[in-house]
Amino acid sequence: MVTERKHREDIVRYGRMLHERGFVAAMDGNLSVRLKADRILVTPTCLSKGAMRPADMVIVDPEGERISGHRNVTSEIGMHLLIYRLRPDVQAIVHAHPPTATGFAAAGLALTEPLVCEVVMGLGSIPLARYGTPGTSELAQTLEPYVSNHGVVVYGDTLEHAYMKMETVEHFAQIALVTHLLGRQQPLKEVEIEKLLTARTKYFGAKLAATMPIPRAPQKVS
Ligand SMILES: [Zn+2]
Repeated sequence: MVTERKHREDIVRYGRMLHERGFVAAMDGNLSVRLKADRILVTPTCLSKGAMRPADMVIVDPEGERISGHRNVTSEIGMHLLIYRLRPDVQAIVHAHPPTATGFAAAGLALTEPLVCEVVMGLGSIPLARYGTPGTSELAQTLEPYVSNHGVVVYGDTLEHAYMKMETVEHFAQIALVTHLLGRQQPLKEVEIEKLLTARTKYFGAKLAATMPIPRAPQKVS
């Protein structure tokens, strides 16, 4: 059982990593962890993710009401609560604006080309409503107003796993950008993707694999 203290320290740690990697600027970004069914530990508003201390975190209930903490909760708490409500399996959420992936969003481009086998294995494609694994269409629809101009939202069974998805998304966006600059893309072939999906189902279980659509048609390079 991970203690609340450890969760606070982890949020500090991964917040600092977001900041060091340039995934957030100024006071941007937010991280949260589900403590138990009706309590969420989350970052405060108006504080650099590179300068947080464990005592800065806020605990809220499922309606976003502050239960403890001396700071105000992030203004993006609604997005976190929505994901926790719709996905009881999700234990942690990270939101940031990594510049390359966010640039793709601002250009209206999804990161859907199956270019790198590790990404197909780990994430599948990265839809334009950009969060790791969209579980339901309801989630996608309801998140739309929150995330359309809004960088990257990732979540997982631990804060570490959610954070690692953020790194994977941005790294993949950089690779995709280079292929755009070079003017050509050589996506994995359908048969190769099938093999990766089969392997992924074996590693991660059918449920997880099924929630990650792999597009068949690669995007045209303009
Ligand atoms: Zn944001």
